[in-house]
Amino acid sequence: MSYQVTLIPGDGIGPELAEATRRVLDATGVALEWDVQQAGADQIDATGTPLPDAVLDSIRRNKVAIKGPITTPVGGGFRSVNVGLRKALNLYACLRPCKTYQGVQSRYEEVDVVVVRENTEDLYSGVEFDDGSEGAREMIRVIKQLEGTRIPESSALAIKFISPEASERIVRFAFDYARENGRKKVSAVHKANIMKYADGLFLEVARSVAAEYPEIEFNDVIVDNMMMQLVQKPELYDVLVCPNLYGDIVSDLCAGLVGGLGLAPGANYGEDTALFEPIHGSAPKYTGQNKANPMAMMFSGVLMLRHLGEMDAADRLDRALSETIAEGRNVTYDLLPMEERGRALGTSQVADALVERLRA
Ligand code: NAD
Repeated sequence: MSYQVTLIPGDGIGPELAEATRRVLDATGVALEWDVQQAGADQIDATGTPLPDAVLDSIRRNKVAIKGPITTPVGGGFRSVNVGLRKALNLYACLRPCKTYQGVQSRYEEVDVVVVRENTEDLYSGVEFDDGSEGAREMIRVIKQLEGTRIPESSALAIKFISPEASERIVRFAFDYARENGRKKVSAVHKANIMKYADGLFLEVARSVAAEYPEIEFNDVIVDNMMMQLVQKPELYDVLVCPNLYGDIVSDLCAGLVGGLGLAPGANYGEDTALFEPIHGSAPKYTGQNKANPMAMMFSGVLMLRHLGEMDAADRLDRALSETIAEGRNVTYDLLPMEERGRALGTSQVADALVERLRA
C-alpha cells in the first residue's frame, strides 16, 4: 500500500531539511508518494497569498502532511502561514515530545516530557486590532462600558479567548495520549490565579476531564512556576497540557532542556488530518548553507510514520537517529562541542549516513 503525503518544503533552511527528510523516509521502505506544495512569502507574487488554496486542497485530500519551517515577518506583513494552516484545517492539538538522547550536549539527563498544546484559541489565535483602527477604538469603548477598565486610546489589542469545548478536546487528547503511550501523569499549565475567567475555565475543564482518567496522576501548575520547575527538576514532569500561547513557550523551553531546537519534532492533529513539522523556525542565517540539523524534521517524520500505522518503519528510523546521535560522528554542528565543530557534517551528508544505516 502506498500513502499520498503532502510535502511543504517551506523557506529558509526548510527546503534543505525537507529534501533530507524525504530521502530518509523513502529509505525506510514505506511507499510514500510525495505531493509537493509550496507555501510562504515566495508564493505571494504568483498566487497573491503565502498560503495558496492548492496547499490546503492537497492536505485535505491526503489527510497527512509534513512541512519545513516558513518565515513569518515580525510586526507587519502577512499573517503566519503556520497559524493559517492550523486554523484552516482545524488542527486543534499540537504534540511536541522532548526527550534527551544519549550523546547530546545538554545540562540535563533523562528528560522525557511531552507538551500538548491547544492550537486554535487563546491570545495566540491572531484576533487583533491595530492601534488607531476603528475596531480598536470600538473595543476600547465597549470594554470601558462593560468592564470598567480605561484602556489607553492609543493601544493595539489582542484578544484572548478560551472555550470549554476546545479546552475539553485538548485535555482529553492529552489524557488519551497518556493512556495510549503508557504515560503516568498529566499536568495542566495555566495562570488561573490572575486570568480567573479564561484560564480559570481551562483549569476547571482540565480537573473535570482528569476525573475520568483515575489511573493517570493529574496536577496543575501556574505557568511561571512551571518554567522554574522545568529548569530545576524536569524529571518530575511527563505530559503537559497547555493553552496555545503557554504551550508555544513551554515547548521551546523543553526543546532547550534536551539540547536545542535541532532535535525537537512536532505534530498537529485535527479530527482526520495531521500535519508534522519541526518546532524550530526557518533560521534564515543558515539558508542554503547545508548546515542546519535535519533531525527535528526527521523525528517529525517518525511521528508521521506512527500516525500512518507504520510502527516498524517508525521504530527503525527512530533507532537510526538515536544511534547516530549517540555515536556523534555523522551529525551537524549543533550536536558537537564548540571545539569539535570543525568536523561537523552538512545537512545532506547527515541524510546520506542515515540512508546508508537504514539500508544496511
Ligand atoms: P529559528 O528556530 O528559526 O532559529 C533560532 C536559532 O535556532 C537559529 O538561529 C539557529 O541557531 C537555531 N536553529 C533552529 N533550527 C535549527 C536547526 N534545524 N539546526 C540547527 N540550528 C537550528 O527561530 P527564529 O529565528 O525565531 O525564527 C525564524 C523564522 O522562522 C521567523 O520568521 C519565525 O516566525 C519562523 N518560525 C516558523 C516556524 C514554523 O514554520 N513552524 C516555527 C518557528 C518560527
